[in-house]
Amino acid sequence: MKFASVIGLEQTKKELIHTVKNGHVSHALMFSGAEGGGNLALATAFAGYILCENPGETDRCGDCAACRQLDKLSHPDLHFSFPFVKSTSPKIDTTERHQRDFAAALAANPYMTLTEWEQKLSGTKKSIITAEEANAIVKALSLKAFSRGHKFMIIWRAEKLNNSAANKLLKTLEEPTDKTIIILVCSAPEALLPTILSRVQEVRCGRLSEGEIARALAERDGLPWEEAEALAARSEGSYGRAAALLREAAERSERLDMFVRWMRHCFKVNLTEIFKLGDAFAKLGKDGQQHFIDYALDYIRGSVMHEFAGRDKTLFDKSEAAFAAKFAPYITSGDISELHDVLSEGHYLIERNANASLLFTRMSISLIRYFAARKAGQNA
Ligand SMILES: [Zn+2]
Repeated sequence: MKFASVIGLEQTKKELIHTVKNGHVSHALMFSGAEGGGNLALATAFAGYILCENPGETDRCGDCAACRQLDKLSHPDLHFSFPFVKSTSPKIDTTERHQRDFAAALAANPYMTLTEWEQKLSGTKKSIITAEEANAIVKALSLKAFSRGHKFMIIWRAEKLNNSAANKLLKTLEEPTDKTIIILVCSAPEALLPTILSRVQEVRCGRLSEGEIARALAERDGLPWEEAEALAARSEGSYGRAAALLREAAERSERLDMFVRWMRHCFKVNLTEIFKLGDAFAKLGKDGQQHFIDYALDYIRGSVMHEFAGRDKTLFDKSEAAFAAKFAPYITSGDISELHDVLSEGHYLIERNANASLLFTRMSISLIRYFAARKAGQNA
């Protein structure tokens, strides 16, 4: 991550470079700002600028040995700590076993949100930074730097430090070892202990403008300008949030597509297509299968709302509403709990590692029966 690839924040970049040139870089910094607004990207670029062997006026060189390591996020003096889900084995659990995944996630998306990271970690569990991890941070910082220059510890979402972890860091924040720079990257500074806040110098990363976010969505994500502008308006000054909304919309649309095909094939009893769809379902993996079933359950509930609560009061988007108009009569004329049970049981069996293709076939047979009974009812 170079300064050039950090969206906006031009004035903050200038001020940071200025402190480097004047030799006034504080050893304990806090980059605060909206989640996904670029504070992690900027902290990484800032550390890179100082670690570069031949920095230019406005950015690191990109050519030196340090820059080549920075490009791969493998510089030995650039350390990261972050929230993770503690496991009972190993007994002393730290971020060590997640470092590779974190570097990959950061390289792919320096604007990731905590929810996106937690989904990569565990699916649903909440993450924190533990006291054991704080010990590991202190230890990493007590070692000599590999190069002759500075060493960095970037603690992403430092507000997730639990109290005992935060207390363990106080001394290091106050009297860090030589040439050590700690950067807390934080989106809710008010959640940090006052004793931590009083020890760090804040670098505020302001909200990005809608124009900056729209341009980034058009250039980086290839979004047509009108869509980019509309999405930027809903992003609350955070490119990461806009990008997350974009991914969610894409996933939702894929799930809708699969759901619509599934219902149609079951309605028409098209077994060949159902088997094909079963293969696609198996390929989604356990998390993807459960997300799809969650979506199906939401959609069925939504269809009932769509029919009874008024079509303007539902959360359906245009394409979801279009199918609901045809689908809802078959739902509302029947026993919704029957469908609910079939899908909920599927969800449960996936959790128990059931064979996905067989399970899909079994759910499909229940759906075929359900639709057959509704069709017979309508013809009677
Ligand atoms: Zn360089």
